[in-house]
Amino acid sequence: MNVYKAEYIWLDGTEPTALMRSKTRIIAEGQPPPEWGFDGSSTNQADGHSSDCVLKPVFVTNDPIRGGNHKIVLCEVFNTDMTPHASNARAKLRPVAEKYAGHECLFGLEQEYTFLKPDGRPLGFPTNGYPAPQGPYYCGVGGSQIYGREVVEAHLDACLEAGLGLCGINAEVMPGQWEFQVGPLGPLEVSDHLIVARWLLCRLAEKFDCDATFDPKPARGDWNGAGCHTNFSTKSMRESYDACVAACEALGERAAEHIKNYGHGVEHRLTGDHETQRWDKFSYGVSDRGASVRIPWQVARDKKGYIEDRRPNANCDPYLVARVMVETVCAAAEAGS
Ligand code: ADP
Ligand code: MN
Ligand code: MN
Ligand code: MN
Repeated sequence: MNVYKAEYIWLDGTEPTALMRSKTRIIAEGQPPPEWGFDGSSTNQADGHSSDCVLKPVFVTNDPIRGGNHKIVLCEVFNTDMTPHASNARAKLRPVAEKYAGHECLFGLEQEYTFLKPDGRPLGFPTNGYPAPQGPYYCGVGGSQIYGREVVEAHLDACLEAGLGLCGINAEVMPGQWEFQVGPLGPLEVSDHLIVARWLLCRLAEKFDCDATFDPKPARGDWNGAGCHTNFSTKSMRESYDACVAACEALGERAAEHIKNYGHGVEHRLTGDHETQRWDKFSYGVSDRGASVRIPWQVARDKKGYIEDRRPNANCDPYLVARVMVETVCAAAEAGS
């Protein structure tokens, strides 16, 4: 083919949680994907009288679904006067990432999600009633434990083919619930890879007659919610335990501000049960899955490494999470040194 298909992906203006959108452009072989536009009045990004919004490519990679020379093109959204659109959280992360680039921040995101059947219930839930209680599902094996593995495997292959920095997958605590991990990567990179990985997941699920949701509380009752644990380190945290503890303390100083950036409905997930700390309390501790922030055991042993902020929701905007995290930890480190 002397053309390729470019799938332009962007985050829309839907409140309280943005949806992913995409459309295809045919481009001559050898040409980079150009800026493009779309109808913002259909995505909660503009009104009908002045509906045009601009798509600026920021991350281009191979399209593992179409294969061949086809591309995925992640974009930021701009207004026609070339100011970043109000919904464009990535634009607000850019200057913060740049300001603190010297700290060499790294993120590892644990994206949890749940497959839903066409009846809207989680995969593995019977039409009436409930499956056996939580216990055997996390990292389980076998047909009565595991639901959706074909999609999960297809998704992992697709992400690797697209060159995304996935570092693992596992079945989660609730049936039909899974996790993939991205990183460790810098703030913009990890967020870009996460969005493309989310898009690939939803796109592939179409083929399997199910849907993937990032709903933080997809089943009421005694079922775990879905989070996006955010593992974080700076260069000094990777060299010193004191810097890891200082980062935890800094997060505690600005806990309420962080909660606001961690995804809609975070109060309903962070109840104090199901391996969470309450949303209105802050704590940190070694190996403590009931804390807001966990210091992994091997970090306490090695006296250096990273910390895990367990609060972000599965439906969080990674650009908002990364921005507040970098700002809080790096500003405190500069004030303290
Ligand atoms: P959990 O035990 O919480 O389930 P996972 O194995 O799912 O942990 O995820 C651990 C995450 O930590 C991975 O995403 C990995 O990329 C990330 N990680 C490892 N080292 C670092 C580091 N130095 N800085 C930031 N993230 C890191
Ligand atoms: Mn995990
Ligand atoms: Mn998990
Ligand atoms: Mn975790």
